[in-house]
Amino acid sequence: MRVIDLRSDTVTLPTREMREAIYHAELGDDVYGEDPSTKRLEEMAADITGKEAALLVPSGTMANLTCVLTHCARGEEVILGDKSHIFLNEAGGISALGGAQVHTIYNQPDGSMLLKDIEAAIRNDNIHYPRTRLVCIENTHNRCNGSPLSPDYVNSVVELAKNYGLSVHLDGARIFNAAIALGVTVEKLTHGVDSIMFCLSKGLSAPIGSIICGSHKFISKAIRTRKILGGGMRQTGIIAAAGIISLEQMVERLSEDHINAYKLAEGIAQIAGLSIDVSKIKTNILYFDLTNHHLNTDDLVKKCGQKGLMFLPTGQSRFRMVTHYGITSEDIDDSLATLRDVMGAE
Ligand SMILES: *Cc1c(COP(=O)(O)O)cnc(C)c1O
Repeated sequence: MRVIDLRSDTVTLPTREMREAIYHAELGDDVYGEDPSTKRLEEMAADITGKEAALLVPSGTMANLTCVLTHCARGEEVILGDKSHIFLNEAGGISALGGAQVHTIYNQPDGSMLLKDIEAAIRNDNIHYPRTRLVCIENTHNRCNGSPLSPDYVNSVVELAKNYGLSVHLDGARIFNAAIALGVTVEKLTHGVDSIMFCLSKGLSAPIGSIICGSHKFISKAIRTRKILGGGMRQTGIIAAAGIISLEQMVERLSEDHINAYKLAEGIAQIAGLSIDVSKIKTNILYFDLTNHHLNTDDLVKKCGQKGLMFLPTGQSRFRMVTHYGITSEDIDDSLATLRDVMGAE
């Protein structure tokens, strides 16, 4: 039985080109700054994001953690969305390890935060208050239907933050999906932010790795933070070699994933007992709801799983599917057939 795994784009396996590049990678000790493949990947990433420097880290979670800890001292406050990955899905690391205080504000359905909400959350100078240091945004926004934030919106957040002397960190785990969906360069979406991280190991199909980009000054501080977190690694060219292929070969094809996600959403909208707002689907992530209460959340996941279709429950009667490399248009037809079958059987 062919299994169609739509739990996440992290399930993508490295391509043949990546495995070959890994085999042939030129290596050195990256803690001594001597791994040529890693240097090359970091230069490419800095170039794409329009920043001075970049840094390879093992995971997206460590990338966000490294950035927030580099920006903030203990007790300082971070403004971020209440549906952000940093707040929901990173085990409270910025507080546990960095002593940062989290100040959440409402994420709009499109993943943005209202400028007036951000402004209202910024503390004035008073000995009773923590110091506000950082604003975090997320693009695309995972929990908010994979929505891309526009360059204008990002610019407006950057401008507001600058007015108050705050820094901006961009969790751009899927920034390439945002750029492809909006038809703009990545640089347009990173312009003005003080740090950005993106993942190589999601839709870009690399087996491991995320990248932090920022100024020379920021990255040289971040190298020390990464070391504190245990993220200084040795022959990282093994990882970087695949990452280079990600950037060279796997970006343009993301549009296929977006087309497949939209097709999947349109199909789900036709199935009685399921509900989805197709107009919200702009990239490779979709959420849908179960409205037929003869089935419960776990039943739907289990029954589809038995028929070879995997996806994640993300709440009461709510589910997420993510399209990615290796998922074809025919797989979408098959996924819809499975859903119809399971829903119709009730
Ligand atoms: C996946 C993800 C991360 C974390 O990446 P990992 O490599 O899984 O640690 C961070 N932010 C967002 C928005 C993500 O989707």
